[in-house]
Amino acid sequence: MTEVYSIDPLVIKTPYEIAYKHSYGGTSKFFTSLPSGKLMATRCDHCKVTYLPPRSDCPHCLGETKWVELSGKGTIHTFTTLHFSGEKFLKDLPFQLVYVDLEGADTLFLTRIKIKDMNKVRVGMKIRMRISREPEFRSSDVWAEPDE
Ligand SMILES: [Zn+2]
Repeated sequence: MTEVYSIDPLVIKTPYEIAYKHSYGGTSKFFTSLPSGKLMATRCDHCKVTYLPPRSDCPHCLGETKWVELSGKGTIHTFTTLHFSGEKFLKDLPFQLVYVDLEGADTLFLTRIKIKDMNKVRVGMKIRMRISREPEFRSSDVWAEPDE
């Protein structure tokens, strides 16, 4: 039954739900390794570049990459504070996103930082990546925390 809020203009309430089915393709191992607590990246031995987020093919030489495990330790390269977000994270506002420079990776990784005092986040701060104990195979399954 459609709920009608007004007639002029016509405003109605209708349920809206979409279930997505999508493939992670060549980056699947990043997500399937999360339940075992592993933070996986990909490496091109030819170019000697390690990618996180992972890339199944090297963007420089187009060669196939191989999987490598990272320690999860790193430093904050830069950060920002969010005061607006998508619906899923509205309850968490405000929160911070950080680009982290992870040991063993040559690319920056964008993730959320979970910290009690947001005023303590700074460039160069040492962090450690954390992985959800019950991964949902989403990017929000991993996040950074201070490593002090
Ligand atoms: Zn390459």
